[in-house]
Amino acid sequence: MRENNLDQLSKLMKQSSYTVILTGAGMSTESGIPDFRSSQGLWTKIDPMQVARPETIEENYKLFHEFYKMRVETLNTKNPHDGHRIIADWEKRGLVKTLITQNVDGFHQLAGSQKILPLHGTIREFRCHHCQKKATESDFIHKKPCQYCGGPLRPNVVLFGESLPMSLLEQAMVEIHKSTLVIVIGTSLRVYPVSQLPEMTKGKKVFINRESVATTLFDLVIQGNAQEVLMALETRL
Ligand code: NAD
Repeated sequence: MRENNLDQLSKLMKQSSYTVILTGAGMSTESGIPDFRSSQGLWTKIDPMQVARPETIEENYKLFHEFYKMRVETLNTKNPHDGHRIIADWEKRGLVKTLITQNVDGFHQLAGSQKILPLHGTIREFRCHHCQKKATESDFIHKKPCQYCGGPLRPNVVLFGESLPMSLLEQAMVEIHKSTLVIVIGTSLRVYPVSQLPEMTKGKKVFINRESVATTLFDLVIQGNAQEVLMALETRL
């Protein structure tokens, strides 16, 4: 994390009239929630295409249920960190207009972010995969069938191969078009269509990630942990 990069980003934030933040799983690793693709990520042990897809619900519900039960239970023992709180505070101060997130953990909302577009849904709500009616976390954890139709229960997340909620995606594109600065934090930008969003801005683009990346798409790249970078920035704003 280089001091002059932080100075540069704080300057960009002060100059920007419409800053949008886009976060991914790396935003929550410092809360103890593993991401998907980095070296200690969930997907080094389990293949996401085998689990987080709608076909698995029909073909191997045991595997699907085990994986998501583990994720829900892990989440219940973790909390948002100062980085989540700083972003929420920046929104209150007008330094951030909108937060777009791929995260399903709900930490941004718990930390107080209000103008948030959770493009991949939430793992804190549950529904029937067949009739779509709401279910409780307890029914999901205890592997109960849907009380209305007997179908399999699932968290309200977007699985691989499923479409994003169109209205949220459209709102995200509108926000990006309005933006004068987009700050991308803790995402590998490998999941479509979110991966396309940063380049839709006419403003500046900044990439914050703990792994070093060679990219020409961004005006500024800051290598460091999300929470540390956000705390260091906060002292400059
Ligand atoms: P990803 O695993 O593909 O990439 C995470 C990125 O964050 C990597 O580039 C990694 O280097 C970086 N990173 C890890 N820890 C970091 C830290 N402390 N500070 C800065 N950078 C850090 O995750 P993604 O790009 O968000 O992939 C998208 C999919 O992953 C989405 O569908 C999302 O729903 C899902 N996901 C969500 C959660 C969550 O809600 N917490 C957790 C795992 C996966």
